[in-house]
Amino acid sequence: MSDRTLRVLSVASEAYPLVKTGGLADVVGALPRALAREDVSVRTLLPGYPAVLAAMGDARVVHEYRDLMGGPARLLAGEGGGLDLVAIEAPHLYRRTGNPYLDAQGRDWSDNALRFGALARVAADIGRGLLPDSVPDVLHAHDWQAALLPAYLAYEDGPRPATVLTIHNLAFQGQFPADLLEPLGLPPRAFHVDGVEYYGGIGYLKAGLALADRITTVSPTYAAEIRTNLGGMGLGGLLQKRGDAVSGILNGIDTDVWDPAHDAHLAASFDAKRLAARAIDKAALQARLGLDAAPKALLYGVVSRLTGQKGMDLVLQALPTLLAQGAQLAVLGSGEPALEAAVLDAAKAHPGRIAAVMGYDESLAHAIQGGADALLVPSRFEPCGLTQLCALRYGAIPVVARSGGLADTVVDANEMALASKMGTGVMFSPVTVEALAHALERTAAIFGQPTAWRALQKRAMTTDVSWARPAKQYAQLYRALLAERDLLQAKAD
Ligand code: ADP
Repeated sequence: MSDRTLRVLSVASEAYPLVKTGGLADVVGALPRALAREDVSVRTLLPGYPAVLAAMGDARVVHEYRDLMGGPARLLAGEGGGLDLVAIEAPHLYRRTGNPYLDAQGRDWSDNALRFGALARVAADIGRGLLPDSVPDVLHAHDWQAALLPAYLAYEDGPRPATVLTIHNLAFQGQFPADLLEPLGLPPRAFHVDGVEYYGGIGYLKAGLALADRITTVSPTYAAEIRTNLGGMGLGGLLQKRGDAVSGILNGIDTDVWDPAHDAHLAASFDAKRLAARAIDKAALQARLGLDAAPKALLYGVVSRLTGQKGMDLVLQALPTLLAQGAQLAVLGSGEPALEAAVLDAAKAHPGRIAAVMGYDESLAHAIQGGADALLVPSRFEPCGLTQLCALRYGAIPVVARSGGLADTVVDANEMALASKMGTGVMFSPVTVEALAHALERTAAIFGQPTAWRALQKRAMTTDVSWARPAKQYAQLYRALLAERDLLQAKAD
């Protein structure tokens, strides 16, 4: 098994650059290319949203369902967004534009249970050999939207391919009413504490956590946090019970998409050896956002969903400290209306010092990473976090909470670290306004010493944030899982 190309079907509800609401899409979009270097060939199964079907061009029809959760559907195979794709063309489920989960009013689509039940259903069928020319060795499901997959395999006869479930955010669990069991095509016996039952309803993520062969999450620290009562969000006990089946593998970022030496979104290219050009990007960012043209002011950036998780409220409360430093703040984000309004109010109250753009803007995200001096990531919890990885690569010093993957990817530049030429960012805990304000003061103190700051930027920029190591770890996990199953099979024979 170890010396041949391994075939993986990656099952997800979003993939960069086709559909993206967050880091999940980045991972699903970038990991296949990194895994190819490990002799793992990945096919990606996605819902056939309009954007996915449009990207696929001349796809082949490889299967037709007469009825997939209430309507006819076809499986289309082809290339899209640089991925080897199978898309589920099912107009009754997926022919909707905009956010993949929400309607125009921002409410969950009322049939999300069936939309993502169908994704898992099709994945299970492909795992069992529905498409004879591409039978996967491993089915890799991402987040709750794909997490019903192991349940479809568990309660039906036939071969049971190896399954891996990755948790990108335990806060999103996919909980639905119990009476959907039949429409989903699951048998009554699946409604059990060891199966899909979760607090009287059907729990998609719960089912996956109970039944997948292996569970990974996107950083070692988050893997530990979710096994506690507080971090477990109702699933901590189950995760503890799964013991060694649970592990953490850090995310990387696509270092071609995020490359300050070749980035069309930047006013000037730079790298760790040519840092001076970064000043041009800072000036361009200030001009673009209407901030004062102040080359010496410490410019903080935020690129984030604006939700309680991400701690933007803490940034707003720490504004007096930030403004007292003579610093500036550039916020790009979208999310909870109250937070958006509060950020916009702050910008209005401090023109030239605080700028806010509400919405999703890939180009501005790059410009902030390349032009801000520091990036604020005060998350209350953070499974991995990708923005701080982009920030490291672009020399925007990450100022982060000590939580989840932030703790695993940033080395705090405390005095001892700085003395021994270590440190790549500034880390604070607990996640409070006071601790954040103190972190801002520490950041400003280092920023005031240009040589120390430049050294910090260089260390940040030479940190390995690529997919190379994570891809090796996923490949190892797949191979270990298959070897274990071979062994069990040999024993059974
Ligand atoms: P999460 O997945 O919890 O939202 P991550 O840090 O893991 O957070 O990933 C967020 C991804 O989305 C990053 O690639 C980040 O650059 C991007 N992003 C977040 N908000 C915006 C925005 N408003 N505009 C553009 N990109 C954004």
